[in-house]
Amino acid sequence: MSTRAGIVVTGTEVLTGRVSDRNGPWLAERLRELGVDLAYTAIVGDRPHDMEAALRFMAGQGIGLLLTSGGLGPTADDITAEVVGRFQGREMVLDEGLAERIAEIVRPLLKRWPDVDREAIAAANRKQATIPAGATVLEPVGTAPGLVVPPLDDGGPTVVVLPGPPRELQPMWRNAIETDALRAALSGATVYRQRTLRLFGIPESEIAETLRVAEREGVDLSALEVTTCLKRGEVEVVTRYEPEAEQDYRAFEELVAGRHRETLFSRDGSTVDEQVAALLRGSHPPADPPDGSRPPRTIAAAESCTGGLLAARLTELAGASDYFKGAIVAYSDEAKVELADVAPELIETHGAVSGEVSAALANGARSRLHADVGVGITGVAGPGGGSVEKPVGLVWLSVVVTDREPVTRSVNLPGGRADVRDRATTVAMHLIRRALSAA
Ligand code: ATP
Ligand code: MG
Repeated sequence: MSTRAGIVVTGTEVLTGRVSDRNGPWLAERLRELGVDLAYTAIVGDRPHDMEAALRFMAGQGIGLLLTSGGLGPTADDITAEVVGRFQGREMVLDEGLAERIAEIVRPLLKRWPDVDREAIAAANRKQATIPAGATVLEPVGTAPGLVVPPLDDGGPTVVVLPGPPRELQPMWRNAIETDALRAALSGATVYRQRTLRLFGIPESEIAETLRVAEREGVDLSALEVTTCLKRGEVEVVTRYEPEAEQDYRAFEELVAGRHRETLFSRDGSTVDEQVAALLRGSHPPADPPDGSRPPRTIAAAESCTGGLLAARLTELAGASDYFKGAIVAYSDEAKVELADVAPELIETHGAVSGEVSAALANGARSRLHADVGVGITGVAGPGGGSVEKPVGLVWLSVVVTDREPVTRSVNLPGGRADVRDRATTVAMHLIRRALSAA
């Protein structure tokens, strides 16, 4: 039986969407690594009643570990410590030593405001140092201390109270898992395994069908928790299981690999970006020559409708400075001609959104920037643009590798402008991957 956990994210700014929640997803991933089964994440405003109701609900579902984020500051709306203390039935007591340590932290910060009210500061420090009796203090990363608050009697949940700013919460969590109080709460955790398969160019419904086939063919899925999701045009299949179910997972993976040979591009969870980076560095296994590693291949791009988004993505690849030369953003026809050497006749004859022009852009990027690999993208990203023959979402892409014919293809991408542009970069990454794997 594994420990189940719940997360209560607090803050009216998060509830209203002015700040998007980064703590819930981050903590969810950390809990997964620890083998803790996360059951719920709730987001509540800075209201004691709502916070308490969320804690009560989760505790009522048999949850053994509760994490809160936010509301630990010195101001009156920062109420988490008090709410959690009451929830755990623990009296609030002033920790004099902690008040002094907080005072030490704020002292240098106060130098900038010589006229500040000393009494008010002292009161704020005392407020932050007033904690539930019996709680373990997590030393401040900013100015606010966190807490591990155990249950008064066996059976209730342990509550870990963390600050709101992610840069404070993250290091504090790492300290929290070293405390005896949290270790005690985690002692029932099971180690889960999690594996990710990635597919491209396949609708999610195909995977649903594969899951049905698995049942028919006697692949036992009962010990596997399989979730599929569509992300940037790729299907991600994430499976979680206890170590004893390893054989069941292997059978499932083989079935997916057999049925989706063409579209399954990652069995080890690696992303297409990681694979492209490895191929460019020359270290990807199929490209590895037996006589040792190859120097990296350099790459350059010429982009029209994506306006530099592919370049931004390429700069994020590991070791990009070794192989990414740069990109030309050629939006207008004149820029395509002047910056990427696209022949004006091509644009006239075939239109700017065409395979001929994407191939010319790929060649232009490659030769202008003296790269081994060139990528060209041209499409109709909208809004407003588009026609019957060339609707919004039509994108032509080409990849050319030295001494080879460009590989060119077109796609019709769904969604609005931002979706089309983002998806086009994903299609480009897959095209680069294919071109390099074949080379
Ligand atoms: P402080 O001492 O800074 O007041 P706190 O623990 O009281 O810390 P909050 O007041 O809840 O934290 O949040 C402070 C700021 O931290 C927020 O304004 C927001 O910018 C950021 N923050 C809080 N919670 C989150 C969250 N869940 N995701 C991302 N950012 C957050
Ligand atoms: Mg605050």
